[in-house]
Amino acid sequence: MSLERVPGGTGAAIPGFTREGRSGEVPFFSQAATFERLWPVIEANLTAVFDNGKFSHGRQVAELERALAEYTGAAHVIGVNSGTDALVLLLRASGIRPGDGVLVPAYSFVATATSVVLAGGRPQFVDIDPVSYALHPDALASAVTAGSRFVMPVHLFCRMADMTAISAVADRHQLTLVEDSAEGIGMWQKGAHAGLHGVGGVLSFFPSKTLGAIGDAGAVLTNDPTVAELVSGLRHHGRFAPTLDNFPGISTETGMCGTNSKMDDIQAAVLLAKLTELDRDIARRAELAKAYQERLRGVPGIVRLPETVDRRSDAADVFYVYLVEVDRRDELVEHLARQGVGTEVYYPTPLHLQPCFAELGYRRGDFPNAEAASQRAVALPLYPDLDVTELDRVCEAIREFYLGRAK
Ligand SMILES: *Cc1c(COP(=O)(O)O)cnc(C)c1O
Repeated sequence: MSLERVPGGTGAAIPGFTREGRSGEVPFFSQAATFERLWPVIEANLTAVFDNGKFSHGRQVAELERALAEYTGAAHVIGVNSGTDALVLLLRASGIRPGDGVLVPAYSFVATATSVVLAGGRPQFVDIDPVSYALHPDALASAVTAGSRFVMPVHLFCRMADMTAISAVADRHQLTLVEDSAEGIGMWQKGAHAGLHGVGGVLSFFPSKTLGAIGDAGAVLTNDPTVAELVSGLRHHGRFAPTLDNFPGISTETGMCGTNSKMDDIQAAVLLAKLTELDRDIARRAELAKAYQERLRGVPGIVRLPETVDRRSDAADVFYVYLVEVDRRDELVEHLARQGVGTEVYYPTPLHLQPCFAELGYRRGDFPNAEAASQRAVALPLYPDLDVTELDRVCEAIREFYLGRAK
């Protein structure tokens, strides 16, 4: 795969984060009301960063790592500067060697597969389950080759991949299991938080994620002390950080070629404030998803609504994204845009058809479920501060598109 730019990529638009604009518009995403409400806590945390004067890898980062360990039940949480770097460092710390095959779903955010390449591995794409949008366990079993060394399921939108079935395939073929749980905060299955079903996982705090920063940030989660120690070193030029008092052998010598993927304390300060409301936010997201579900069920043109939250007692799901599959998706997106309703298309190009992976030799038709989802899926506005009248407007605009003007 080329690390150089290849033609064909078109940068996706970044959603607007303000609520300014024509009245009646419903942005795809906004945190304006959240920041207003949480401002006193954010301000106090930021003041602590300025007072302390350590803006990278400081006290707020250490505090956030502890708070996230408590929230997720992970033995170790290592703060880094993005979910993408978290994936690269997790793969490196898990012992990836040049050319190792890493089985990943063909439908995901592109960093799922580019991180594999950046860590020296080779992505091996696998089709998805059309309901969960995650690695299909049967497709996974048949995709394993002699060169496969890792499997990296992704938990997308509102629920986790089937970790029991995927772990069984990993065990049978001696694959190292790591998780792209970038979207997975708050998701649990069989008593373990997303990211803690194998060697480790990641979190992304990109602003639009369930727990979003005011810039880029991420974390690695693991119960394995060796992986934790390696990730902490790799994020800091291959050194052990002086602020990490939980690992022995602190050194300023560079024992391995690391990088600079440290988290900054401004992000940690904001994340600590937002973490205090995370459970409330998750509950609100579930309420809004239920409201969408009630209003959109049975509307012609809608091919698939998300399965409502997994009712199995051993799973907790989180509506990070409310994603529907529809007919004439691109026309609907344009219609909604004209009505002032923001949407996002997740993910318009399946990974095996991304120009940067052309030399892997996959073709259109290889992964029908991933390709169908890429053509039909669209995400609707969903964030804790969305109110139901706004949600009603979104649903009304969708009904209008498929049914014509009712009145
Ligand atoms: C957001 C995301 C990432 C990357 O996280 P960043 O913090 O944006 O680098 C990776 N994988 C998935 C599935 C994601 O949704």
